[in-house]
Amino acid sequence: MSGKNVLISGASVAGPALAYWLGHYGFRPTVVEVAPAPREGGYAVDFRGEAHLTVLERMGVLEKIRERQTGGMPSRFVDKRGRVRLELPIEFAGGAVEIRRSDLSTILREHSANTTEYVFGDSISSLTDTGDAVEVTFESGLERTFDLVIGADGLHSNVRGLAFGPEERFVSHLGYYVAGWELPTPSWLGETSLGHTAPGKYAGVGIDHLDPAMAGAYVVFASPELTYHRRDVDQQKRLITEGLAGMGWRVPEIVATLPAAEQLYFDSISRADVPSWSTGRIGLIGDAACGATLGGMGTGTAMVAAYVLAGELARSDHRTAFTRYEDLLRDFATACQQGGDRTGRFFAPSSAFAIWLRDKSMSNKLLMKLMLKAGEEISQNVSLPDYRSVSAAR
Ligand SMILES: Cc1cc2nc3c(=O)[nH]c(=O)nc-3n(C[C@H](O)[C@H](O)[C@H](O)COP(=O)(O)OP(=O)(O)OC[C@H]3O[C@@H](n4cnc5c(N)ncnc54)[C@H](O)[C@@H]3O)c2cc1C
Repeated sequence: MSGKNVLISGASVAGPALAYWLGHYGFRPTVVEVAPAPREGGYAVDFRGEAHLTVLERMGVLEKIRERQTGGMPSRFVDKRGRVRLELPIEFAGGAVEIRRSDLSTILREHSANTTEYVFGDSISSLTDTGDAVEVTFESGLERTFDLVIGADGLHSNVRGLAFGPEERFVSHLGYYVAGWELPTPSWLGETSLGHTAPGKYAGVGIDHLDPAMAGAYVVFASPELTYHRRDVDQQKRLITEGLAGMGWRVPEIVATLPAAEQLYFDSISRADVPSWSTGRIGLIGDAACGATLGGMGTGTAMVAAYVLAGELARSDHRTAFTRYEDLLRDFATACQQGGDRTGRFFAPSSAFAIWLRDKSMSNKLLMKLMLKAGEEISQNVSLPDYRSVSAAR
């Protein structure tokens, strides 16, 4: 399929990574991103285990990621009087290497820029698969035809909605919401991450090692599914404030920084289960195909999936390639994703007893070692095909 035009929706992780590999094999990728410009700041994501690191190395971005790594830090959970009840080691949240998602996107975009057309501030409004090609219209009114279209547009994927069916069929709410925003580093924080849990609620703050004047707030709360407008940030800030009401420690102080926050991340903790990752000439990758909001190693899975999907497309027709891609990755992706099912409960257990039990069991060094080992094993339980001969034959 070399030389074909591929439209990718989404310029975060899976999109630019796939664009890089497709360009490497001689495809002509276009990436369309709904945000008007590349995002800055935001939360950090990590990579762990051999499979993630091998793909980053083969792609030639591992060193660049290391140059921008956030460093990671131990996470301390304190009670309402500020006494430390649990300390998690750096590798628990930070993996082998951790980087802001926005910095990762920039590295991937720059790495693919020579062979990729990037379009910001637009979105696909309709897709018609004619069998020989996909006719695409954009919100801007533009109409173009592509050989393939890939949705790399996250948990609430636009491409999935247009070509596979409504979101309710594929995305399940796991009973929690998560939010993050930046704030000036509080004087009491130090070089660490501190958080407090009350039944069904967690709020924490961690210093930004790349810019120590700033810190990141990170909160989780239990809630049935909420109705809100995705672009109404004030409404989301109100929901977060309500979700954390009544918490002790320094939580009111953290919440008081919310009105001034310029960029807010807010989403449900959910997972996407799509029975088939492709239909005709349209495919899905990353969180759009098999995401968990967090705790499901979605960044590493997206990078591995980009490597495999491009490699398979480079060596066969799209039908065979989509089938092989899914056969190679489905079990691996599902096992990684399942970690996300526990994230809400981990941060915000439902009762005082459940919080005590979490703190007690996670303080056990042997148990922690076993958990880290299990996570690493899941993250690398995939056979990565070697596509080097494909690129050599290009
Ligand atoms: C707080 C938090 C911490 C996390 N930490 C980790 C971690 O440590 N390790 C880890 O592996 N994962 C982590 N994750 C999960 C990780 O962020 C995702 O798995 C990963 O970003 C998935 O990449 P993606 O490219 O598939 O989707 P996304 O990163 O969600 O990107 C989707 C892109 O599509 C764009 N888009 C949306 N709609 C449209 C449209 N209509 N048209 C065009 N573009 C569109 C979006 O703007 C976005 O740029 C974390 C998530 C959260 C919320």
